[in-house]
Amino acid sequence: MSGLLFIIGIITVIAGILLGFMTGSILGFILSVLGSLFIAVIFFALAKALDLLEDIQAKLYKTAEKERKIEKLTDSVACARCKQLHDSDCTSCPHCAYRPS
Ligand SMILES: [Zn+2]
Repeated sequence: MSGLLFIIGIITVIAGILLGFMTGSILGFILSVLGSLFIAVIFFALAKALDLLEDIQAKLYKTAEKERKIEKLTDSVACARCKQLHDSDCTSCPHCAYRPS
């Protein structure tokens, strides 16, 4: 997905350069190229943000997986509010007193 945004950014720059040539004036060319570069930067930033988001999602997934493994190993559960592990037969969290309904 981020690769697609990157390609769209590059196509925008190429289209801007071509359009600039078609205007036939130096000012038109410069304005067209600058405009396309401005739009391309937005696409590149979106691509970068998407990459970071996917990275964060992967890390969150790994963390949740580790949490589940620890729960299985120690017969404990993570508190829904403070995420601290406590015994599975506790009716409320000993760390923050959260009581799951
Ligand atoms: Zn808690």
